Amino acid sequence: MNQTKAYAAQTPDTDLAPWTFEPREVGPHDVQIEILFCGVCHTDLHQIKNEWFPGMFPMVPGHEIVGRVAQVGAHVKNFAVGDLAGVGCLIDSCQHCVPCQEGEEHFCVEGATQTYNNPNRSGNPTYGGYASAIVVREEFVLHVSDKLDLAGVAPLLCAGITTYSPLRHWKVGHGHKLAVVGLGGLGHMAVKFGVAFGADVTVLSTSSAKEQDAKDLGAHHFVVTKDEAQLAAVRGSFDFILDTVAADHDIPLYLSLLKINGTHILLGVPPKPLEIPAFSLIVGRKSIAGSMIGGIAETQEMLNFCAEHNIVSDVEVIDIKDITHAFERMVKGDVRYRFAIDMATL
Ligand code: NAP
Ligand code: ZN
Repeated sequence: MNQTKAYAAQTPDTDLAPWTFEPREVGPHDVQIEILFCGVCHTDLHQIKNEWFPGMFPMVPGHEIVGRVAQVGAHVKNFAVGDLAGVGCLIDSCQHCVPCQEGEEHFCVEGATQTYNNPNRSGNPTYGGYASAIVVREEFVLHVSDKLDLAGVAPLLCAGITTYSPLRHWKVGHGHKLAVVGLGGLGHMAVKFGVAFGADVTVLSTSSAKEQDAKDLGAHHFVVTKDEAQLAAVRGSFDFILDTVAADHDIPLYLSLLKINGTHILLGVPPKPLEIPAFSLIVGRKSIAGSMIGGIAETQEMLNFCAEHNIVSDVEVIDIKDITHAFERMVKGDVRYRFAIDMATL
């Protein structure tokens, strides 16, 4: 089979650079997708830099994939050559444990297979979407509407489902005050979904320059978290906080902004463990929770919701050669609001 062109990190200390690999054979249940756009998630940077755990190198990151079906296996039922298709953070799971049966493949008891930096079910490393193509079992391939801008669809496969799923799980909507911490890739999708579900949405940001953008995204209020007076004005006021911050931050400070019985939902994964004094939870009967992406059926539901409501990610489309600079800007919080790589530049 033809080699797949990609960008890979050879070690945690080197920049991404061109690389090729032998793709997996297209088996009877597989779909091969020619990748058109891949979103740049902060997780990609955490993983190529070994910020969470030692990775598998060479590593081809990317789990916000949109493209066109190039080949299908003999038993594939739901996709045909030429269809638009999406792939998110998962490409396989055991498919028989209770979570898998209940549509929560991301919580597979045997461990779901991650799109990259993970052994697949045969023990070989998986390679992600900073590549010309990917081969995935059809159960893990999503249908993508042709009504939406495809570069803006790519980030829905991770940033979209990661924010949609907790808002649905906690039934956040009319009558709720929702705060979104961090206006980046996940944060801007949380604003869009929070507004679409009818919540009163406040962005809590370290960047005063993002206020107009937050309002343009539909947020009702904007608070600069470095401004003590602005923070004091919202103390004890939120039902839910969706926390998308990727770095160390002061969780008890945010807990103080919750109402009695309020819930702080962690989506961001800072490399260091969090410090949470018991008092910040027991006073006000507050909860701290977490949520990780979403299952395949819910991801399709989210994509259908986006097609119906004309929701996509706000993207800055980049050439793959500029990926290292894009990572640098992401770390500085300078992304408006997701980079999407145009794979034609590979
Ligand atoms: P991102 O685009 O870099 O956005 C993060 C935002 O957090 C920044 O734009 C910035 O917004 C804010 N921020 C940065 N440093 C901060 C600090 N020290 N204190 C307070 N705020 C800070 O990242 P992303 O792609 O949205 O990902 C965010 C996190 O979610 C990452 O850790 C990623 O690995 C994780 N993630 C989790 C899941 C999941 O399933 N739970 C899925 C995908 C990603 P302001 O300028 O507005 O302050
Ligand atoms: Zn991601």
